[in-house]
Amino acid sequence: MQSVIRTTVIGSYPFPGWLEYASQDLSVFGTDDIAEMQDDAVIAALHDQYSAGLDVITDGEQTRFDFNLSFYGYLEGLKLESESPRRFGPPAHDQRGKHEIIATLTAPRGLGAIEEFQRLKRLAAAGPVLKASIPGPYTLSGRLLPNQQYPDRYAITEALLPLVQQELVGLVEAGCTEITIDEPSMSCYAWKEDPIRFVEIFNRTIEPVVGKCRLSTHLCFGNYKGRAVGKREYSPMFPAFLEMKVDELHVEMASREFSELELIGEIAKTKDVAVGIVDVKSYYVESVEDIVERIRRCLAYVTPERLAVAPDCGLSQTARWAARQKLQNMVAGAREVRESL
Ligand SMILES: [Zn+2]
Repeated sequence: MQSVIRTTVIGSYPFPGWLEYASQDLSVFGTDDIAEMQDDAVIAALHDQYSAGLDVITDGEQTRFDFNLSFYGYLEGLKLESESPRRFGPPAHDQRGKHEIIATLTAPRGLGAIEEFQRLKRLAAAGPVLKASIPGPYTLSGRLLPNQQYPDRYAITEALLPLVQQELVGLVEAGCTEITIDEPSMSCYAWKEDPIRFVEIFNRTIEPVVGKCRLSTHLCFGNYKGRAVGKREYSPMFPAFLEMKVDELHVEMASREFSELELIGEIAKTKDVAVGIVDVKSYYVESVEDIVERIRRCLAYVTPERLAVAPDCGLSQTARWAARQKLQNMVAGAREVRESL
């Protein structure tokens, strides 16, 4: 389904408070309790997305609430979570531990995204497109420490690449029609690394599923507990990133006051462009009028057929009441513009 001014989301959605509470000690629950909890969390995320009226929805990444349910929990060859060097003070990435590699990296049970998609399919009602999202190998490599076997970040990336590939193929086989491959580390480090090398890695990762599924990526400057990480400029990534073999590129514009907006015209020459018009880091809730005005600014550069609108990033770091209202207003604004066309 391809609608005009498609309304979409980046993968994550805030966890319900009870889920955060429960995940502090999952050992008190039985396996069926946990399975029920995972379903319930997804049902809550689906409810909010349905009531907003989005064209594309996700499971809100609601089941990645525990380390063992995250991608790293599926990898063999790791010694988990070395102690974080800084435990107090303002939030930043250095407060998260890195994982030591102690053997060849494998994922004998996959990376969990296929099961997530199957759960989403089972719980979702007919209507919106169901999108899966999975981090790419370069981003995943960021929390693994190099060793003799894998001497640097690129070597770890190469080891993870086939594991991500296998998961992408499995998602398509499971009936998934739209996948976002997230490589936020590529957008964050494009200014100091070789963006052409990034694109080569990215395209090699998605190669087996190109043409078999709608593919997208989200060029993100990071959202660590509401804080950005990268140099928030798109110019270092372009024109190289135009060569990514995706159907849709997403760029964050709202939190950057629509700086470099003309770039979406370049992107739209070869692919659809999803524009972040909702700021996930601000508790100012964009009004329907704001949304209408922002979409009209985008339409100065791209046709409505090429344009999708979304929040700047996943909503996991935004309180649920705000996330819900922001999505509702975004969809209402997109409808208003559609009707006026
Ligand atoms: Zn993001």
